[in-house]
Amino acid sequence: MRGVIMYAPGDVRVEDRPDPIIVEPTDAVIRLAATCICGSDLWPYRGAEPVDHTPMGHEYVGVVTEIGAAVATLKVGDFVVGSFFTSDNTCEICRAGYPSHCVRRTPIGREGTQAEFARIPNADGTLVATPGQPDADLIPSLLAASDVLGTGWFAAVAAQVGPGKTVAVVGDGAVGLCGILAAKQLGAERIIAMSRHADRQALARRFGATDIVEERGQDGIARVKELTGGLGAHSVIEAVGTQDAMDQAIRSTRAGGHVGFVGVSHDVSIDGKGLFFSGVHLHGGPAPVRRFLPELIQLIWDREIDPGVVFDLTLPLEDAAEGYRAMDERRATKVLLTV
Ligand SMILES: [Zn+2]
Repeated sequence: MRGVIMYAPGDVRVEDRPDPIIVEPTDAVIRLAATCICGSDLWPYRGAEPVDHTPMGHEYVGVVTEIGAAVATLKVGDFVVGSFFTSDNTCEICRAGYPSHCVRRTPIGREGTQAEFARIPNADGTLVATPGQPDADLIPSLLAASDVLGTGWFAAVAAQVGPGKTVAVVGDGAVGLCGILAAKQLGAERIIAMSRHADRQALARRFGATDIVEERGQDGIARVKELTGGLGAHSVIEAVGTQDAMDQAIRSTRAGGHVGFVGVSHDVSIDGKGLFFSGVHLHGGPAPVRRFLPELIQLIWDREIDPGVVFDLTLPLEDAAEGYRAMDERRATKVLLTV
């Protein structure tokens, strides 16, 4: 099969790789219907994380082509969506709603789903079958559910978004935009998108943003305060992972409010005294996407949400290197790779 390998920062190639096979009886193999490049794939691409001949990709939708002997809930031919950590969905941590911290979790990224086929461990607890074979136009949205939508949704839930709440969203990448969509679905009254890109502002409004703040840093915090009677937002989504974004998120939250942080943290440190006096709740980390998949798949199936519009560039898998360049240079928000 063909698959993406990142040789080194900035060096992405598509190569022949061995077809995945069933290794554990709990595995499934899927044929990808589509795959994509994640904002977090840019960290190694830019040299901010080590990378050395690494298979890439952790987002996936596709059709089951083979199952291990112990797989009970899936059959060959099922169209499935899964998340970036596999999970048994039965352990105490999973049952508490945190499958991304499952005691048996495995990272999907190790073998990479930017490829024609992928092996999915813990298949029963990881993969969720759609109600039937999806129409082609639903595939981008189902693929978004695999990571960016599930992550944005978790950020909103972690930030305790709900009816009557004012929500601020730091970060206008695909996850931040999906956080806006989630906030709208969860009944937020007001959604402040922090963005300075016209095209992303337009998508933010389409997803439900009521206000746009272009300022950053102190000015951005001041603007959010101004829009919230001097108090700050009830709920703030942090979807970047940098020091500036985390500071912005914590300081834009009112006392007693909640920050949901899902940007993969890179060199972020939190000042203890500042946190102490802020009086905010912090919750985040790798999103337990599997928890939300049944609900998200149904909303997409019923065409109530269309998160797939975050993909603003579609390329064949063979052109993955151009996809990485486009995202790195911010020419694209998120790239879908056809398989
Ligand atoms: Zn578990």
